[in-house]
Amino acid sequence: MDLIERIDEWARAAPEHLAHVSRERTLTYGELARRSAALAAWLLRALPDDRAPIAVQGHKEPEMLIAFLGAVKAGHPYIPIDVTTPPARVERIVATARAPLTLTPARVAAIVAEAGDAAPDPVHRVAANDPFYIIFTSGSTGEPKGVVITLACLTSFLDWMLAEQRLVEQRETFLNQAPFSFDLSVMDTYLSLATGGTLFSIDKDDIANPAQLYRALTHSNATVWVSTPSFAQMCLVEKTFSAAMLPRVRRFLFCGETLAPEVAAALLDRFPDAQVWNTYGPTETTVATTSVRIDGETLTRYRPLPVGYAKPDSRVVVLDEDGRVAVNGERGEIVIAGPNVSPGYISRPDLTAKAFFTLYGMPAYHTGDWGYFQNGLLFYEGRRDQQVKLHGHRIELGDVEANLQALPGVRDGVVLVKMKDGAPDSLAAFVILNDHSADSEFEISRALKNRMAERLPVYMIPRKFHFLSAFPMTANGKADRKKLAEMLA
Ligand code: AMP
Repeated sequence: MDLIERIDEWARAAPEHLAHVSRERTLTYGELARRSAALAAWLLRALPDDRAPIAVQGHKEPEMLIAFLGAVKAGHPYIPIDVTTPPARVERIVATARAPLTLTPARVAAIVAEAGDAAPDPVHRVAANDPFYIIFTSGSTGEPKGVVITLACLTSFLDWMLAEQRLVEQRETFLNQAPFSFDLSVMDTYLSLATGGTLFSIDKDDIANPAQLYRALTHSNATVWVSTPSFAQMCLVEKTFSAAMLPRVRRFLFCGETLAPEVAAALLDRFPDAQVWNTYGPTETTVATTSVRIDGETLTRYRPLPVGYAKPDSRVVVLDEDGRVAVNGERGEIVIAGPNVSPGYISRPDLTAKAFFTLYGMPAYHTGDWGYFQNGLLFYEGRRDQQVKLHGHRIELGDVEANLQALPGVRDGVVLVKMKDGAPDSLAAFVILNDHSADSEFEISRALKNRMAERLPVYMIPRKFHFLSAFPMTANGKADRKKLAEMLA
């Protein structure tokens, strides 16, 4: 049984069981199977001759899941795009992927309402080596890049997590914090759907309103918590965020950025019946490739915390500067090989050739992450390039810079991360203007932010702009990022 059949099987076994809860809206397994089949039948009629990706733009609506499954049942991968993405960036994503159609929750609901009960022909489904989803991440030149993930990649990830996490079928409720456009959401969404669980979404308005968020969490009854460490850290500010609020939670699964020991320790303290897991991996290798349980002993033994052991069907190695496998404890670039490695970036053979290669006869990916092994455990030590993680969001500083430099009136721009208490806090831009107009720096900053918001998601917009007449230079004539960073300290 492949993943799609497995999800449909829950619709036969337990059609009334809740597959998704999003605010006051619910979706049962029966509804999910019927409606995604109806959408797939419609797609097969609307696009009979191609298997092009289908863009799906929305937020946490049940129609998002219907659209994802509807697409793959008709043989199309889907591209999840969050509703907060500005139209100019959506256009670039759609153009790069040559997506013939962008579905919204309203459109999905209308199609499903009209379509009736026609079931799609199963032979059209996405097969193992076909693309299943394409997630766009920040690209260093200002163009988002689309990571292609096949059904086989996703299956390799899920089979590993299912074997390791010992979830109880039809009994789990998974917290869905990350937007569907971020591959962390794949962890909660498909672990839940594969095990007949319930996916409980919290949305951006919940996250922006603490009282509402804690009400939603109390109401969730979650047993498996999936989020970025930043999100858990934010929740920990609330004293009542504990087993009293979430009495059924048994697992905290983290991925996407550094898990601070203080966060893990506080969670173990406040949720004595729950396990805390750190998992690591880029979108290009399907959510996560390594994992480790962080218990009291791991906390006392290691600083920083390890990111884990490789999943059994994959190889994770650290390569030194000469491309040789580094010895234990030696620092180098983390390389991941295995069936979970993406075939590459859509429509970008140039970027694909740079990052992907073959190792041990398996597809492999240069993560750009520094790391080392100790006692068989992988440790993460930062990036070799200008990619950063800000509150869980993956951002190429070059992406922000390219979009800043393209604005009229801007002669040059450098974007850096401002740190606070040792952790990334916000983006700061250094700008050289073509000419200093009569406007105040406050007004110019506001105008630049507004212009950038037309092109970039809100989390990629610098919080503060510093105006200079020239940048400090390095010996070889580049803007001296180190000196600029010192100006932020
Ligand atoms: P994304 O593709 O958004 O999942 O981002 C992947 C990048 O996030 C990785 O290449 C790492 O730089 C970072 N990352 C992911 N998981 C972890 C982790 N557990 N600890 C530290 N950094 C992480």
